[in-house]
Amino acid sequence: MKIGIVGAGQVGASAAYAVALMGTAREIVLIDLDPKYAAAQAEDISHAQPFAATTEIRAGHYADLSGAAVVIIAAGVSQKSGETRIDLLTRNAEVFRAVTGEVLTHAPDAILLIASNPVDIMTGITQRLTGLPASRVIGSGTILDTARFRVLLGQHLDIDPRSIHAYVLGEHGDSEVLSWSAAQVGARDLQSIAAELGRPITGEVRARIDDGVRNAAYRIIEGKGATYYGIGGGLARLVAAIGGDEHSVHSVSIMTPEVEGIRDVPLSLPRIVGKSGVIADLPPELDAAEHEALKASAQLLKDTLEAVKL
Ligand code: ADP
Repeated sequence: MKIGIVGAGQVGASAAYAVALMGTAREIVLIDLDPKYAAAQAEDISHAQPFAATTEIRAGHYADLSGAAVVIIAAGVSQKSGETRIDLLTRNAEVFRAVTGEVLTHAPDAILLIASNPVDIMTGITQRLTGLPASRVIGSGTILDTARFRVLLGQHLDIDPRSIHAYVLGEHGDSEVLSWSAAQVGARDLQSIAAELGRPITGEVRARIDDGVRNAAYRIIEGKGATYYGIGGGLARLVAAIGGDEHSVHSVSIMTPEVEGIRDVPLSLPRIVGKSGVIADLPPELDAAEHEALKASAQLLKDTLEAVKL
């Protein structure tokens, strides 16, 4: 499979590196406003090839995306001083209008994987700008928050996070919702198995894990300025799910017709992912507080998207 990555910065390059190590693509094309930077990233990553799978990685132009099955958009536009969040989003939307126009001219059948933040809003904007089916415009959304939730639960229970089925829903950001009530370990309910294992989910444990998930990005940014390896891994996992037509379940963001009574909102739910993109949604059963929190998250995203002039 051939993939493209637009924006060869820390997130785009980490995704390229993870895809190369996983060996899920035959060819990766990196595109950046700064072609020298893209070429340097491609050359650096290509030197890992003898230690991993055979993946051709090179810098290129939009025309080189011809035949790409997936294009990751990780182009970052940073906030200017004095600029409001909505001004920044409006400017980002213009960048995305140009980028997606070029991408779809050369790779009209590609699945678009959106990684630029705020990812839910950028996913909604991209879907509206392109008019593509929502299933083909996929934001990385809470794939990373879900990974963090599983890692922390796994550490608490001393169980492999891959055997823990717990999802983060809604916004990739402050209003996200940890779906505690639906969490499963193997085929068992989280609360009961945790108590049985002598590692109960007390109020204190729950608060610690919630903080660990919700505030991870703030902590990492404080320590090293940005987060990119985790999301790079998540994007590479989605590339594998699409390339392998896996029909595996991931919490990703797409324009969703209706959530908690709110219509046409971009947010994350667990969804089945395969070669055509999102195939179906698997919303977990929630308790009353989680329903309320998801509704608030959806409303916030809806209001922000509506405020962006396209
Ligand atoms: P992040 O941590 O989000 O990856 P970076 O600043 O490291 O942020 O990377 C963002 C990259 O996106 C930069 O290399 C920048 O040149 C690139 N970029 C910004 N705008 C565009 C654009 N319109 N087209 C292609 N690349 C872009």
